[in-house]
Amino acid sequence: MLFWKKEADPPPPPAAAAPPVPRQLRGTLACSEYACRRHDGVTCAYVDRRGRLCPTAWCPDHQLVVEGRVFCRRHARLFAAVGGEFQMVQALPDLDNRSPSLADYVGDVLEPRVLELLWGLCRPGTNDQVAAEPLRVVHPTAGGARRWVRTWKMFDHTGVIVQVGVEVDEGRDPEVDIKVGRNLVGQAIPPWIDRRRQGLPGLPPDEDAAERQRFYDGLWAGAPPQIIAEVEQSRNVLRYPGR
Ligand SMILES: [Zn+2]
Ligand SMILES: [Zn+2]
Repeated sequence: MLFWKKEADPPPPPAAAAPPVPRQLRGTLACSEYACRRHDGVTCAYVDRRGRLCPTAWCPDHQLVVEGRVFCRRHARLFAAVGGEFQMVQALPDLDNRSPSLADYVGDVLEPRVLELLWGLCRPGTNDQVAAEPLRVVHPTAGGARRWVRTWKMFDHTGVIVQVGVEVDEGRDPEVDIKVGRNLVGQAIPPWIDRRRQGLPGLPPDEDAAERQRFYDGLWAGAPPQIIAEVEQSRNVLRYPGR
């Protein structure tokens, strides 16, 4: 599984790894990357549960190779999110399922705010750390719709101090949830998707940008107070272990 974390201090230089093995696959198709003129692309290996193929192809410059197969960027992330080959057939969403890419997209936009706040709450001189996890899928134990989740955590040697998640529930798509721990602190439908659903035309670029900004600001607004409260609560518990 993909996992990366950032240390509270500047991270040490990466350990000397084995030299990367050049893994590139060449085919005969036009590359789907905008403005790429190469014709040695290979089809994205993604096949959804209904047997439909991803219609893109990628040259060696623009392909991602995972477990020996070429994927487009979106499907490489999905493949990693569901844990690779063995869970693939059941877990991979349909090609027209927007939920994973919506969770990933909103997660990418909110990530700088989440990380900035979590880093700001780390106490200097401690081993407080912050980690970001890539997109993953959650299958509810009680059944029901799957959720696509991006998660950020602040933790120390005793465990997780606070966890922040951006989620899209396949049953409520395109509603996006933001959670702090188990608390739902924000919920909103992206206005550009809402507009498309209603058959309304898109906004001019500057109005569209302003509207997206309001959407992200509104979604995020309830998170900082709850994050701060949970971090303080966790530290108070540590300070008064008898409580
Ligand atoms: Zn290309
Ligand atoms: Zn693909």
